[in-house]
Amino acid sequence: MTKNQITNLFKIKYPIIQAGMIWCSGWELASAVSNAGGLGIIGSGSMYPEVLRQNILKCKNATNQPFAVNVPLLYPNIEEHIKSIIEMKVPIVFTSAGNPNTWTKQLQENNIKVVHVVSSVKFALKAESCGVDAIVAEGFEAGGHNGREETTTMCLVPDVAKAINIPLIAAGGIIDGKSMLATMILGADGVQMGTRFVACKESSAHENFKNMVLKAKEGDTSLTLKEITPVRMIKNKFFQELEELYKTNPTKEQLLNKLGRGRAKLGMFEGDLNSGELEIGQASSQINNVFTAKEIVQQIMTEFNYVKSQISTANKFN
Ligand code: NDP
Repeated sequence: MTKNQITNLFKIKYPIIQAGMIWCSGWELASAVSNAGGLGIIGSGSMYPEVLRQNILKCKNATNQPFAVNVPLLYPNIEEHIKSIIEMKVPIVFTSAGNPNTWTKQLQENNIKVVHVVSSVKFALKAESCGVDAIVAEGFEAGGHNGREETTTMCLVPDVAKAINIPLIAAGGIIDGKSMLATMILGADGVQMGTRFVACKESSAHENFKNMVLKAKEGDTSLTLKEITPVRMIKNKFFQELEELYKTNPTKEQLLNKLGRGRAKLGMFEGDLNSGELEIGQASSQINNVFTAKEIVQQIMTEFNYVKSQISTANKFN
């Protein structure tokens, strides 16, 4: 694959970005993806400020390639995260779940590239007007935090591509070279993958959670908690309990009480598959193996290049 807008922007070899995922993407995963030629991202949403500093330090020691930090803009101690990112000269920041107007300029003034994650054309245009360097358009298939609009990647990517004039990264349902090529045909310049990199050797997800991802079948995830923050998760015991609660027409407070605190950590990091929140995308149904980040990136690029070369001669297009 030759250079494109995304590889040039981030100074990386392949336009493959590993999503910043709470409890799953620390420095081991981020540095392994960056060393493999993609862009690794440290997910700072689950890290106390000192933990993030340690992760940035370890990531810098483990790779001399560019890497990024994902900052969910809802994070309670966001000022401390931003201060560490600037002081420790992290080259790229992906912001999500909030207003990109708040931090973009300050980060860019410190030579940091800023990318914002959106789930609609409206927010893509807003992020572009705030001056971000690129946009991630994440469809309804994605795991974890999700858009309220329920727009699929197939529909979102072409609409956002038409609307904006800055580089576009597609996310949601992309796990291999075929789906990467498909979204690039739809107008993306690169892809972001979360679910594929949860089932990765260097991911810090608990082994129980990784094994559950391998077993997941089509229809095993669902979007819920729209009244709080929409989130896609595995339909485990905790999810069923939420379903029961929904039958009683609960208030937002009752839903918040049911969710409690630390459910994501309990499920994804501590491996409690019944009571924990297991955030994963729809494409988990297609994942059957845990590989290293290097193997994943190489397999994706091999398949991407092969399918691209075969596509014009495939019978179904003649
Ligand atoms: P909860 O309120 O349920 O729990 C907070 C968790 O975050 C705890 O497990 C806590 O760790 C950890 N944590 C890290 N730093 C802090 C801090 N400064 N103050 C309080 N707790 C902290 O939240 P969630 O686990 O659901 O989400 C945590 C963050 O991740 C939020 O900012 C949220 O926006 C983001 N998030 C992003 C998602 C995405 O898809 N990008 C998906 C879900 C959440 P400990 O248990 O060790 O105290």
